[in-house]
Amino acid sequence: MRKNIVAGNWKMNKTLQEGVALATELKSAVKNPKCDVIIGTPFIHLATVAELLKDTPIAVAAENCADHASGAYTGEVSAAMVKSTGAQYVIIGHSERRAYYGETYAMLKEKVQLALANSLRPIFCVGEVKEEREAGRQNDVVKAQLEGSLFSLSADDFGRIVIAYEPVWAIGTGLTATPEQAQEMHAYIRSLIAARYGAQVAADCTILYGGSCNAKNAASLFANPDIDGGLIGGASLKAEDFCAIIDAF
Ligand code: PEP
Repeated sequence: MRKNIVAGNWKMNKTLQEGVALATELKSAVKNPKCDVIIGTPFIHLATVAELLKDTPIAVAAENCADHASGAYTGEVSAAMVKSTGAQYVIIGHSERRAYYGETYAMLKEKVQLALANSLRPIFCVGEVKEEREAGRQNDVVKAQLEGSLFSLSADDFGRIVIAYEPVWAIGTGLTATPEQAQEMHAYIRSLIAARYGAQVAADCTILYGGSCNAKNAASLFANPDIDGGLIGGASLKAEDFCAIIDAF
């Protein structure tokens, strides 16, 4: 069954104490959401925040995991470690990780497989940069990202993936894709999933929009048939803003 989801991505913001304060605010504010709610936090917050939010409607995600299972990879955090904190999701393939940390399709494929093997649900990000959109290449770019990292999964494994379409030109810029642009890409992504895995898997797949989504534009984005919620960066850092987006459902 396709789920509506609003997921936050705190990125590299908030000390542990500030993160606990925000999670505590969300815990009392989010009572009966009309969608699933997830917060993606830095690694150091995960165990504390997951414990704090146990038995609430808010699930916790890591923002990344390693592309190796364990061993001599100083500074890395494995999918098994993420799982052991109580987190249920992991964001994989965010454009900032692709651009600043050189994450390739092959590395992301490993991360997805390790996440699934450790019973984490990947929130897998795709999206084109501004020049690619201007050249009309957005569909080719997103197709290659899906094929390069996800489409070798079995249908059962693919069924555990949440996709986030995040046009890179809209992330943190205040430029949001129009609801029409977002719907068009989401429908295209769903058509690719249908061609690879069949109509049912495609119909069941949650596809989130990300990129300057906020309390003002969330309702008009989420009203579209193929937009199942949002991955929220900046507007997830204040409880009031994040709750207003949840309330858009
Ligand atoms: C993101 O980083 O996933 C994101 C969507 O950021 P913002 O909402 O700030 O554009």
